[in-house]
Order: sequence, then C-alpha cells, then structure tokens
Amino acid sequence: MSTRRRTKILATLGPASDGALKMEELLRAGVDLFRVNFSHGAHAEHAARIAAAREAEKATGRPIAILADLQGPKLRVGDLPGGHVDVRMSSELRLTAASKSDEPDVIPVPHPELIASLQLGDRLLIDDGKMMLHIVKVDGADRIARPVAPGRIASRKGIAAPGRPIPIPALTEKDVADGKFAMTQGIDYLALSFVQRAADITLARKMFGDAIQIIAKIEKPAALDELEAIVQQADGVMVARGDLGVELSPEQVPIAQRRIVRVARQHGKPVIIATHMLESMVESLAPTRAEANDVATAVYQGADAVMLSAESAVGRHPTAAVAIMDRIIRAIEADRDANPSAQAAAWTSVPTTADACARAASKLADDLDCPMVVFTRSGSSAQRVSATRPKQPIHALTPQIQTARRLSLIWGVSADLEPEEPKSFDDILEAVNRHEAASGIKRFVITAGWPYATDNSTDTIKVVERK
Ligand code: PGA
Ligand code: MN
Repeated sequence: MSTRRRTKILATLGPASDGALKMEELLRAGVDLFRVNFSHGAHAEHAARIAAAREAEKATGRPIAILADLQGPKLRVGDLPGGHVDVRMSSELRLTAASKSDEPDVIPVPHPELIASLQLGDRLLIDDGKMMLHIVKVDGADRIARPVAPGRIASRKGIAAPGRPIPIPALTEKDVADGKFAMTQGIDYLALSFVQRAADITLARKMFGDAIQIIAKIEKPAALDELEAIVQQADGVMVARGDLGVELSPEQVPIAQRRIVRVARQHGKPVIIATHMLESMVESLAPTRAEANDVATAVYQGADAVMLSAESAVGRHPTAAVAIMDRIIRAIEADRDANPSAQAAAWTSVPTTADACARAASKLADDLDCPMVVFTRSGSSAQRVSATRPKQPIHALTPQIQTARRLSLIWGVSADLEPEEPKSFDDILEAVNRHEAASGIKRFVITAGWPYATDNSTDTIKVVERK
C-alpha cells in the first residue's frame, strides 16, 4: 500500500516522454497508467513506446495499464490548391464532394453524405473550430458557405458539422488495423474516439473480442443523447473535453462533465477527465491557479482518473506536470469536502450479492477503521468495492497480471500480483497475511468470492486480526 492517493493519473506518451528511463521517472512522480495515442505516429513508434513502458513498469515493480487510443472517424477537408486558402470576410466558398480542388473558392470535402446533410443556416467548424462557416445556400449537391471571421483553411484539417451525425463508420479501416496491432503489443484498454451510440461499442467488441476493456470517449454531442446506453455498454468512459469543446459552447462543457461523471459513477464504471488540465505547463513550470482548480474539480466529483495530454506527450515539463498533479490531488483528497463516502451516494448499484457484499465490506472497513484486501480474478470485485468510494485503502490481490494492470485506472485501488492460485479460502487468508506482513497493520477486512474463479461471485467478507 505504497500510495494513499485515490484519484489516478493517466499520462499520454509522446516525444517528450520517450525512453524507459523517462517513463520510470514519470511513474515515480505519480503516473498510474499510460496512454498511447494512435492519432499520431507509426506502428513501430507505438511498439517501441509500449515496450519501454513495460520496462519502466518492471523497474518500479508496480503493475500499470496501457491504454491505446484510436483516432476514430474524424472528418477532414480534402487537398486545397497550394496547401491552404486564405479566407476573406467577403469570401463565398463552395463546398463540394471531392478529394481535391484547384480553385481557392472551392473547398473539397471527401464525404458526400456530410455535404448532403448540411442545411441552410448550419454551422461548419474547421480545424477544431478555429474557422467557422455558415451555410448560406443549397446549390444542388453543393453547399455555399460564408465565413464568420476571416482566416485560413489548410488541407486535411478536421471538419465538423455540429448536430449532424458523422456519415462514416464508427471504426475506420485505420482504427481496426491500429486496434488489432495494439492488441498484439499487450495493451490493457482500448479507447474509441467520437463514439456516438452504444452500437459503436458493440461493433468494437465484434472487431476486437470481449477480452479487451473498452473506454468510450465522449466527445460528440450525439453521445450525450445516448449517454446511459453508452456507459452501460462500455467498460469505462473518458470526458474528452478537447473535441467535446469544439462542438459545445464553453458554458456547456462543465455541465456535460458533471453529467458524464455522475452517470459513470451510477453504473460503477471508471471515468477519466481528459485534456487541457494543466495546459499552460506545456510551456511553463507552474500551472495557472485555474488549472489547479480544474484538477481539483475532477477530484471533488469523484472521477477515477485525470489525464495529461500535450503536457506529458510534447510539453517541456512532463515530470513537473505529473508531480504537480499528484500534489493537487493529494491536497484535495485530504480536504473534508472531498469525503469519498459522500461521493458514493451517486452509486446506485443493482442489488446483486456481489454489490451488496462490496457495500458491506466498505462499511465494515470504515467502521473498524482498517484497510480492505480484495482477492479478485477478473478485478470486478475490486471495482465494485471502489464504486462505493470507501475512506479506507483498497488493496487488490490477483493471480492475473492483466487484472493487476487494469486496476491501475480504478479509484482507490492498489493492486499486487499473487502468483499462487488459491485452492481454498484458507489459501486466500494465507496469501493476504503474507502480503500484508510488512505493513504492520493488525486488522483487515477481506473480501472475495468463493470459489473465487467465477466472475461476479463476491460473496464472502471476513475480518482478520493478526497477532
Ligand atoms: P484526443 O482526445 O486527444 O485523442 O483528441 C481527447 C479529447 O478530445 O479531449
Ligand atoms: Mn479527441
């Protein structure tokens, strides 16, 4: 039980954090799991990063998860003459279904369905919203648009029509190839970008199998309309505020964040708050106080993890960003207002034996003021206990390295490998005693299922007093 920090830190890998030594430094500074972003880079680069992360994991002796983040169906404009066009206030642009154009006033969009779906008055956002167009005329299959402000449109920049569904499959060919490749590299989570409906997750399970944990990135307003169903289908969600903020106005983002966290918590699924958390630290050594507040809000809300993106992938001070995040989380968790049990009120479990046992074990541990040890094969018992947000530490023991790694995302859980498969409940007690011998702690609440190998079987709670 080396750490008493409950909220986890997920750091994106990139050129600024390459090499096993650097990654080890980040882990020691407080990172719990890494993200590899398949929007950038070639497979060989990702393979090298994942291998280095595993080396760093070995060096620290703490199991960590690796999350592979797929690019998803991002629409892009086609190729423009000379690579870009400068748009004046008086420009009238023709949007046409093509992959390239030779005229500066014609913007090629290689997605005919998108153009067809655009109606008079619709907004069109290009390059993460840096350029905004309004549709002023429907002209056969083409659309005529005017800019809201002058600016530049470059080839291959992202294009989004708020409120219009994305007319390409939820998993592109690139996503399928990337996901399959990532799975050969021993990753623990697969994140899907631009999820719009629960069926997108079902499709991914068909593609990648049931064994991989799927995180749905909530970054399209359409996903908010189907949030409940998406949370139920996915193994976890990410509040992907970078892209979510492109289509939502600023004042809508905090409301969406609160709601996503609440729904995820209600279903006992992990939720990650992502993007721009310590953005100024891409350049500076210290965060703005508003950024500190943003991390704090995620902790007060009971999120499982907070994420670093550019800060750790391409920033100037990855380790400092992690260290500061760690400090902010610890300070907020020590604040009375961050009482985890109060956050647990959000959790409305289905009244299964496993859930009831998780609640009872947490209550027992809080009453007896002692830590909990969860013996778990799939990790689900530990996740259930975490969902109750107990005040006490949750130590998971598992014979599965994949489970120990996966639990690095889960709020309040520290996991260790116990290679011996228990053959009796006495074996579990023996393993717990062995693992906790050095801790000096005299009392534990142990929870497990017996026979423990079946999923969702948590049915046993025992209070152990050590001499
Ligand atoms: P990205 O996703 O970094 O892959 O774009 C996160 C976000 O959009 O916030
Ligand atoms: Mn995104």
